[in-house]
Amino acid sequence: MTDHYPLRDGIVHCEDVPLPLIAREVGTPVFVYSTAAMQDRARELTAALSPLDNPLIAYAVKANPNAAVLTTLAAEGLGADVVSGGEYRRARAAGVAAEKIVFSGVGKTAAEMAVALEGGLCQFNLESVPEAEMLSEVAQSMGRVAPVAFRVNPDVEAGSHAKISTGAAHNKFGIPIGDAPAACARVRELPGLKLRGLAVHIGSQLTSLSPLERAFEKVGAMIARLRTEGHDIATADLGGGLGLQYDPSAPTPPTPAAYGAMVARVTRGWNVRPIFEPGRLIVGDAGVLLTEVIRVKPGATCPFVILDAAMNDLMRPSLYDAWHGIDAVAPNGQQIVADVVGPVCETGDTFAVARKMDQVGPGDLTIIRTAGAYAATMGSTYNSRPLTPEVLVNGSDWAVVRERQDVEAFLRDESIPNWLARAS
Ligand SMILES: *Cc1c(COP(=O)(O)O)cnc(C)c1O
Repeated sequence: MTDHYPLRDGIVHCEDVPLPLIAREVGTPVFVYSTAAMQDRARELTAALSPLDNPLIAYAVKANPNAAVLTTLAAEGLGADVVSGGEYRRARAAGVAAEKIVFSGVGKTAAEMAVALEGGLCQFNLESVPEAEMLSEVAQSMGRVAPVAFRVNPDVEAGSHAKISTGAAHNKFGIPIGDAPAACARVRELPGLKLRGLAVHIGSQLTSLSPLERAFEKVGAMIARLRTEGHDIATADLGGGLGLQYDPSAPTPPTPAAYGAMVARVTRGWNVRPIFEPGRLIVGDAGVLLTEVIRVKPGATCPFVILDAAMNDLMRPSLYDAWHGIDAVAPNGQQIVADVVGPVCETGDTFAVARKMDQVGPGDLTIIRTAGAYAATMGSTYNSRPLTPEVLVNGSDWAVVRERQDVEAFLRDESIPNWLARAS
């Protein structure tokens, strides 16, 4: 696959744009996204799934909800998997057709259900019978019929990090798969609901197909059983979860083609419309966090490279112990071993420990790679650091697609209650 961050004339570019240009014009830290990288992934997955019967690829908006990113993916024909009223709103604003939207999530509120029923959607993926009962009431009060699927928990260990594994019996997600017949029977009794199928999503950053295959086999068996009980099963939502290669020395994760072939084999004869919810796979590789070295501080075992990006900009290393590639934008050919950290007052604000990397010094630009997914969107303002801007590149064009937050916004959005104002 094409490298959309090529080294040209000794400088890393995003497509045809030299990264120092973006750093100069926008400042650092800044997220940079390659349009071509996202398009390549969307097309690769679309091609891999095309032998299936009319698949719906509903991009998991939570991975990167930026309006320009969503608009890019909507133009590629992708739908949206949303987990909140806010994501529903974003998907619609980006031009995703209502009938391509799947509403997932374990805690949908009545207000969020109403928003999606009003605007329309493909289906709600329900995660419990009480949720079905709430949706039934909301749908009835609006005079609508809500298309629903049950998310089942297949009790399969995803083999991924505990905080992003969702398909084991002790996880909060879905109903135990053995409870599906009773849950579907209950849906049949509830007015305002129309059962469409089953859904499953066992976790994220999966680097092996076998837990997925085991989960899908259980779903297939349950679809057959539900049909014998008279249910009309039209869709099977097989979730997302396909992992990326963050660390070049780690084993290569399965390709979309291998995934598509597995799905085709396992779902043969199911006679359903398959739905997919990829997030990370589509956008993860497309982004980098462009940052400048503030200074290099001597350490007990190795130096600390202190970046102007921190855990509030990119939380994955501190949250999931995630490994991200870190490279100089203008590598000088020398290497160092360093701890790479941010300025936030937490020991967890560490991007890499004892990392063999390009030699960098104060003022040098570096990139933290594979920062297109679960990155900008998890940003916070911890330590009163403004939210990081985002730039979208398309060939030699580029644009700021989220402005750098103004620190004055902190003061503007907060207020001093009367009793304190009086005292001063
Ligand atoms: C997060 C999530 C996804 C996307 O997962 P990726 O690993 O990014 O593909 C899909 N479906 C559901 C229900 C999710 O919660």
